[in-house]
Amino acid sequence: MGAGMAGLGAALKLTELGCKDFVILEAQEEIGGRIKTITVDGRPLDIGAQWLHGKDNPLYHLAVKHDLLSEKMSEEGLGMFIRNDGVMFDDFLVKRVDFEVGRILEECQTFVDKIEHPVSVGDFMEQKFLEYLDACDDTNDLRQMKLELFDWHMRFQVIDNSCQNMRRLSAKYWGSYVCLDDTAHYNLKYGYDSLINVMADSLPKERIHLDCEVTEILYGEEHNGVKVICSNNQIFYCDHLIITASIGVLKEFAIIDPPLPTLLQTAIDNMGFYGIGKIYLIFDEKWWGNWKGFQFMWKSDTSYEEGEEWIRHVTGFDEVFNQPKVLIGWVGGEGVKEMESLTEDEVGNTCINVLRNFLPDFEIPQPNNVIRTKWFSNPWVKGSYCHITPECDDPHSGMDKMSEPVFVRGVPRIILAGEAVHPSHYSTTHGAFESGQEQAAVLHKYIIRE
Ligand SMILES: Cc1cc2nc3c(=O)[nH]c(=O)nc-3n(C[C@H](O)[C@H](O)[C@H](O)COP(=O)(O)OP(=O)(O)OC[C@H]3O[C@@H](n4cnc5c(N)ncnc54)[C@H](O)[C@@H]3O)c2cc1C
Repeated sequence: MGAGMAGLGAALKLTELGCKDFVILEAQEEIGGRIKTITVDGRPLDIGAQWLHGKDNPLYHLAVKHDLLSEKMSEEGLGMFIRNDGVMFDDFLVKRVDFEVGRILEECQTFVDKIEHPVSVGDFMEQKFLEYLDACDDTNDLRQMKLELFDWHMRFQVIDNSCQNMRRLSAKYWGSYVCLDDTAHYNLKYGYDSLINVMADSLPKERIHLDCEVTEILYGEEHNGVKVICSNNQIFYCDHLIITASIGVLKEFAIIDPPLPTLLQTAIDNMGFYGIGKIYLIFDEKWWGNWKGFQFMWKSDTSYEEGEEWIRHVTGFDEVFNQPKVLIGWVGGEGVKEMESLTEDEVGNTCINVLRNFLPDFEIPQPNNVIRTKWFSNPWVKGSYCHITPECDDPHSGMDKMSEPVFVRGVPRIILAGEAVHPSHYSTTHGAFESGQEQAAVLHKYIIRE
């Protein structure tokens, strides 16, 4: 169930192992799930995932094999750091705070093996940053500027972790995410769906059913397998079902009968799933010279126009790989749902007003197009990617059950896969792919034993 990275990864693994008797049921009109590439000015632009994180993973190797990787890598949060009263923060100060936040987050990674730990990453960051400030002999103005930079980092982390706020991130599990070889962001020169297409080319087309939303999963003993009912009235009977829908979808999935085992359901309930948004401003000309981006700091007494509060959750605007006339703004936390509820014109107008206010020395034209994402509103995704909440710290949170198959009379009938099921590469495309491959291999082991 699902033709995203995990579903395709599972299908490829089954094929590789000689098991061809499967179908992929996908609710949407196209494959890829949270990967979607469109074309702007004849070049690819990614609406969903856009970078490969690290070299040492199967998707990186697949991209190299098919010559899909660009030599250019990306970094985020670069360029001018500027406040809404026009004050530009000097590089040294920006780097000083960046270093301090990095140090605090590194320290937070050590809690993964400890019994005693703070509740959330947000609590820990605030406590440690205030300790750092108290140990400095700064003027009030400088202290205030450091706090404003710290606030930028908090907004950045909220987006990076796709959570509602930093208190929703478990400090204990902060170190459980394994960052591969380096922190570089690798770009795909033809867009992310070039990887999806390479995978789909190795699968028989007739096995992928699009527009086929699964609405009921019945796996009681009386079905002698799994009965899968779809919204287009098709019914599939299968021995095993790999579910790769997002945790956001699973949290609200209407009919699974019998209900999933309590611990597995608890794990799904406890796992965090929230959203982020991208806003692409497409201009006729590149008006920002050599700047790589503009990062926004807000004075704490700023008041926002009604209906524009969401803009506070945008970290700033960055250049976009392979799109010389496009800027991207990332929005997180409470701002995402609000942004999704507006029209693209409204979103674009607010962004342009804010850019003009922050950057009075630039002549900023109206964009000729605005594209923003709506992953929260997508009923088959309902957010962006998972994060680990403080509820997951409880040893009875079910966390260790996520990848365990659900057995009926000794037969694994249901098994979850997807980004949220990977114990150390959750939230990523390669985590989703690896999880699909691993879960398919688990099933296959069972099938050949039978
Ligand atoms: C804006 C954004 C930016 C991101 N950036 C990056 C990045 O730069 N790098 C990175 O590594 N990751 C990134 N990610 C995360 C990455 O996209 C996901 O982790 C990954 O694609 C998830 O794959 P998946 O197969 O687990 O789930 P999905 O891609 O969600 O696939 C599940 C599929 O199941 C289908 N489905 C759902 N319900 C049903 C149903 N009832 N019946 C049938 N089908 C159903 C869905 O339509 C979907 O196609 C980003 C995500 C977003 C949203």
